[in-house]
Amino acid sequence: MDGNVTLLPHPDAPRPVVALVAHDRRKDEMVEWALFNRGTLSRCSIFATRTTGLTLQSAIDSRIQLLLSGPLGGDAQLGSLIAEGRIDAVFFFWDPLTPQPHDVDVKALLRLAVLYDVAIACNRSSADHIISSPLFTVPEKYRQDRGPNYAPWAR
Ligand code: PGA
Repeated sequence: MDGNVTLLPHPDAPRPVVALVAHDRRKDEMVEWALFNRGTLSRCSIFATRTTGLTLQSAIDSRIQLLLSGPLGGDAQLGSLIAEGRIDAVFFFWDPLTPQPHDVDVKALLRLAVLYDVAIACNRSSADHIISSPLFTVPEKYRQDRGPNYAPWAR
């Protein structure tokens, strides 16, 4: 282990590595979106926070690696994966109308996605734009610059 907080394999594979997270009132919308995009998602490696992942598993026929539930640390785990350069795109349907007990973790996740230049969609139209982009199929184009030394503009 070289300073990483997880021992998960690094995604050198050409498959895009995506993270799916939906707050409770937006899980149905996430399921609809995932069903619509299940063909593309079947060609991705997928991480999800636990409840989102379990909800999606019964709807789409893809293997999903489950993190902890968001309020129990799943958003923080995902933030770590982003910081380690293991995630290519985040689809995060957060709920702007409901206070969340883990709001600080949500904010940290959003911050890290911006810091490490990871594509992040927080609503359905953005999610459709990202997943249908030609760039989505060439994740290696962006991977090389990520990781602990990213954000040259911040130095
Ligand atoms: P959940 O977590 O998938 O376990 O519901 C989502 C979140 O609240 O961040």
